[in-house]
Amino acid sequence: MEKMIAFCGIICSACPAYLATQKDDDNERKKVAEMWSKQFKAEIKSEDINCDGCLIENGQLFGYCKICKIRECGLEKNVKNCAYCADYACEELNKFWKMVPDAKTTLEKIREIM
Ligand code: SF4
Ligand code: SF4
Repeated sequence: MEKMIAFCGIICSACPAYLATQKDDDNERKKVAEMWSKQFKAEIKSEDINCDGCLIENGQLFGYCKICKIRECGLEKNVKNCAYCADYACEELNKFWKMVPDAKTTLEKIREIM
């Protein structure tokens, strides 16, 4: 499977919610919901675990990704991901990376070989 890299740098194709959805595996959905509920100190149910990756315009999205401004902006600018944007790295992206530093590493690596 080809790597699917979100606008922000998250690797959607390696995300457990994406994988559980693509396999349509309810046991996996339950495990992810339990893991993330602990990790994010929130009540996440198995039925919340549905995601087709954020590059797809009309697919299913998980939680925060439904309201994500980075995604909205990337789609509007029609960039492959934020690494290819003329305004890289904008304030919105920097704010997000404070929560998910691995996403920054992914986009920085893309920029190095561009
Ligand atoms: S919706 Fe936003 S936070 Fe979620 S993977 Fe896409 S760009 Fe990243
Ligand atoms: S301005 Fe560019 S770098 Fe910032 S969110 Fe939009 S597409 Fe991504």
